[in-house]
Amino acid sequence: MPEGTYYFPEGFLWGTATAAHQVEGRNPNNTWTAWEQEEGRIINGQTSDLACDWWGGRWREDFDRAQTTFQNAHRLSIAWSRIQPAPDRWDESALDYYREMLIGLKSRGIVPMVTLHHFSEPLWVAEMGGWENPEIIDIFTAFVQKAVEALKPYCNLWVTINEPDVFALSAYVVGVFPPGKKDLKAAYQVMHNMVRAHARAYAVIHEIQPEAQVGSAYHYRQFVPATWFPADRWMAKVFHTLFNDLFPRTLKDGLFNAVVKKDRIPEAIGTQDFIGLNYYSNDLIRFNILARDQMFATLSFPKDAQMSENGFIANLPDGMEACVRWGTQFGKPIYITENGVEDSTDEMRPRYLVEHLHALWRAINNNAPVLGYFHWSLVDNFEWERGWTQRFGLWGLDVETQKRIRRPSVDLFAEICRMNGISSEMVAQFAPESLPRLFPPA
Ligand code: BGC
Repeated sequence: MPEGTYYFPEGFLWGTATAAHQVEGRNPNNTWTAWEQEEGRIINGQTSDLACDWWGGRWREDFDRAQTTFQNAHRLSIAWSRIQPAPDRWDESALDYYREMLIGLKSRGIVPMVTLHHFSEPLWVAEMGGWENPEIIDIFTAFVQKAVEALKPYCNLWVTINEPDVFALSAYVVGVFPPGKKDLKAAYQVMHNMVRAHARAYAVIHEIQPEAQVGSAYHYRQFVPATWFPADRWMAKVFHTLFNDLFPRTLKDGLFNAVVKKDRIPEAIGTQDFIGLNYYSNDLIRFNILARDQMFATLSFPKDAQMSENGFIANLPDGMEACVRWGTQFGKPIYITENGVEDSTDEMRPRYLVEHLHALWRAINNNAPVLGYFHWSLVDNFEWERGWTQRFGLWGLDVETQKRIRRPSVDLFAEICRMNGISSEMVAQFAPESLPRLFPPA
């Protein structure tokens, strides 16, 4: 077997990513907390409840875990609903708590990246129409201003909105996120408002903190036509344009191209300092006249792909390279803001991890300016409408006892972070089935 190490660039950020609602627990003013109480919304009627109990202080022990396993960065989100529980009320104690968490990261030598919107809002925002109402642009900007002013001494890497593409699709087309709509017109309006809210947030953050680096995190998927039929090929293009291109392209050239309807949002031009990319898997796509609720498309995975525990993710590491290549067209530095797999037994994760990182390494060696990688996630957390059925953590979580379970991937990722690379030795130890792919015999 050939021996060697694929090294990453000096100063590369290695860490994990989390989101407030998924890890904090007990947040009564939040849209997702209310959604979980409605019958039939979450698989098996599960609720986030304590989640990973970060609001109760367990972030300390989890940050210790990150630190002692050589992670030097962490991406977390702050809950708007805690900071502004009512339109006319700021909760300074929530800001103090986030301040403490960010100091907690910095004192452990961990660089924070903070997401300002990750799938959830205060209930009062939802009551006034949420992201469908253009008033949200002013309201979100006011929240961003308040939060950044308070937290700027501890952070200069900001993600305004996590996965606007997934949010608009899940909440306004498929209807599995609150407010559970199936309304394409609403989805259009939501994306439009999100672009404008991002642009305003970008300007405000830079006013407060000129040295800030501001971007969004996009969920990128390659849509591969399932057959050679022109209708499938056309569908692949439409999905690519709507899901992948719509938001970041508008920030590049101001053209908001939603295929059937276009607009210009000139104030969005040039409002990203970096591109955040969340890559998990790709889809085969087929035109389906009957699938009205899914925008006339049926998605599937290649038949021979290795599948995750619940069939949610196919291990398609080449897609990581394609994702980064796509990201380079915006001419900005790139962070992989999420990548991971649901796998409670850790059978697939080591292989998924090294193969995706190898694909990332290849992209970097083709001159892609990638500055860091955040694995999803540090510890198992509440997986939205899929509740606790999907386990993405390096550490497992016993939800009842809050006990953390160290999976083998913890040690693999620790080695990667420590060495700033992937060695043949670690692949042989943790993911031997990936050896021929990563270190092919001469
Ligand atoms: C989201 C995360 C989620 C992950 C795994 C991403 O789309 O940003 O919040 O946990 O996927 O499903």
